[in-house]
Amino acid sequence: MCSSIPSSALKWFSTLKLEMSTAALIEAFGRSVVPTYARFPLALVRGQGSNVWDAEGRKYLDFGAGIAVNTLGHGHPAIIEALTTQAATLIHTSNLYLTTQQVALAEKVIGLIGPGKCFFCNSGAEANEAIFKLARKKGHDAGRFEILTTLNSFHGRTMAGIAATGQEKVKKGFEPAVEGFRHVPYNDLEAMRRAISPKTVAILIEGIQGEGGINIATPEYLLGLRELCDQNGLLLLMDAIQCGMFRTGHFQSYQRILEKVNGKSFLPDAITMAKGLAGGLPIGMLWVRAPYADVLSAGTHGTTFGGTPLICSVALAVFDTIEKEKLGENARVQGDYLKSQLIALKSPHIKEVRGYGLMIGIELQAGIPAITLEGKTSAALFVMKLHELGLLTIPAGTHTIRLLPALNITRADCDEALGKIKQGLAAL
Ligand SMILES: *Cc1c(COP(=O)(O)O)cnc(C)c1O
Repeated sequence: MCSSIPSSALKWFSTLKLEMSTAALIEAFGRSVVPTYARFPLALVRGQGSNVWDAEGRKYLDFGAGIAVNTLGHGHPAIIEALTTQAATLIHTSNLYLTTQQVALAEKVIGLIGPGKCFFCNSGAEANEAIFKLARKKGHDAGRFEILTTLNSFHGRTMAGIAATGQEKVKKGFEPAVEGFRHVPYNDLEAMRRAISPKTVAILIEGIQGEGGINIATPEYLLGLRELCDQNGLLLLMDAIQCGMFRTGHFQSYQRILEKVNGKSFLPDAITMAKGLAGGLPIGMLWVRAPYADVLSAGTHGTTFGGTPLICSVALAVFDTIEKEKLGENARVQGDYLKSQLIALKSPHIKEVRGYGLMIGIELQAGIPAITLEGKTSAALFVMKLHELGLLTIPAGTHTIRLLPALNITRADCDEALGKIKQGLAAL
């Protein structure tokens, strides 16, 4: 042990061992961590596959996967192998130099979307900052800077991210807002058409709104937006931070949404990705196609950590495993099963089940007394009921819970989750 660590720090470190109880952690968080999150009273200490264990040794089935991040579940050997091998070889270089891992990941993504170039960063919000700067730079000389987004969207927590997000609650208290963002209803092509002004440079949407409650763009909307952007010389930007990475069965949600119509020629101008790309490690990225791929020229944007050899080799291992184990197909098959079984429950408490692949929203009826409490959403309260039954899910909006399990989830795990959801609904 390093002798320069003061004994008081060592003592503190030893109290933070895995056996720290949930109650002690709640108290320590209250004392030492800025309370930006309304955290559930659940302390997780270990994970394996799609199971996690809390500080008291209770096991949970993980159908949240760290908000669509743990693409291969917990403790996957491919991730451990890539992480340890690359950590022993070269972790970080900065972007002053070239690395094979970064360009290999760029080429992997280009192969799955289409010709273009990639920029790497560390989170979703940061990827969206890059897409906003791309749009601003592209429109700059023509005096165009405005980006149209949709109501109930979510685009991250930076100043521009909250300005882009179509939800008042994320903006409140942080005014004045970054200029140049306006919101229109989702899936409403006419509203978007009417909103375009001489200052507009781009339209940004999620293929499936995640935080907003699993709202899916229709094929007509996507194709209509493409046409609208082409007619008006606007960039069509997609935030695929949550709905990408094969969660819907295809790499990109628009590929799934458009598979039944003639959507082969559809391509956005730029796409942001993050969450599940590196299976649990922090990553963000931007894909942008020609002729816009060089708009963010040398010196116009950057980040110290973006695209390190470590993160990129882990992301490559995740892509590799998805291909080898056909996890896109698994997401589709298990997702279809989950959705059909949830609908078959015919629960009076469920208003609607929505989603593609392993991105499923269960919208609950409004005003269910058992999950009505001042200051909490019924979505969060139902999620807590499911915690008691040993299932992790994620609230979305006020009345919807999200199922976002790892892409290698098994049929047995799906059946177990369905049983717990059924039990949870029965208790309402
Ligand atoms: C999570 C999310 C973001 C923000 O990503 P962070 O990594 O939390 O900054 C942006 N857009 C969408 C659609 C998201 O789901």
